[in-house]
Parts: sequence; C-alpha cells; structure tokens
Amino acid sequence: MNDSISIECPHCGESFSLALDVSEGSAEFIIDCEVCCRPMTVAVQIEDAEIVSLDVTEA
Ligand SMILES: [Zn+2]
Repeated sequence: MNDSISIECPHCGESFSLALDVSEGSAEFIIDCEVCCRPMTVAVQIEDAEIVSLDVTEA
C-alpha cells in the first residue's frame, strides 16, 4: 500500500514528494534531495498504515 509523503529538504528548503509503502511499518532511510542532490535522513513513524510522524534531518 503506497502513500505519498511530502518532504522538505533541510539543505535547500525545497519540498518534494516521495512514495512510501506504509504497510511496511516505521522506517528510517537516507535519500538524496531531488533538487540539490544532498543526502538527508528521513524517519517515518507508521501506525496501522497511517503516518503519525515524519522527521527529516541532514544526513
Ligand atoms: Zn535540497
């Protein structure tokens, strides 16, 4: 089950969306910004296939 999350880059401040499989449960991963290509750590808390918190920090 895919959901779309909105991420704000901690480096350049641009927002972009990312598809996430919420049935996988909570996750933490590193992605590169689509705009400035710098890495960031995304921590997502998922409960009952709902995103309850989203935290984006510089990787
Ligand atoms: Zn960026």
